[in-house]
Amino acid sequence: MDFPIARLLWAYHIRHKTKGVFTLGEITGRTIRLDLHGPNPAKTRLHEYLHLLHPSWSETRIRREEARRWRRLSWLDKTRLYQRLGRARIEDGEGA
Ligand SMILES: [Zn+2]
Repeated sequence: MDFPIARLLWAYHIRHKTKGVFTLGEITGRTIRLDLHGPNPAKTRLHEYLHLLHPSWSETRIRREEARRWRRLSWLDKTRLYQRLGRARIEDGEGA
């Protein structure tokens, strides 16, 4: 799975609940902010990434596609996602 360039940041705390669902990531322009408190930041990143690719899609459609793609990702693809997370910058932190 190939990802066009998006800036990835670890944010201290994004987590909030909207309509009974936790938000663990946000996308602004091409910057994806991820909350470390989420259970699976790599999956959250995939979710935000789908928002970047398909800005017109509804949240429901994004969630469905996120689940579908996550199931289909190979071990190697998932490993690469986690690797990329390891290189993400820290918002308001050193090097951000
Ligand atoms: Zn979303």
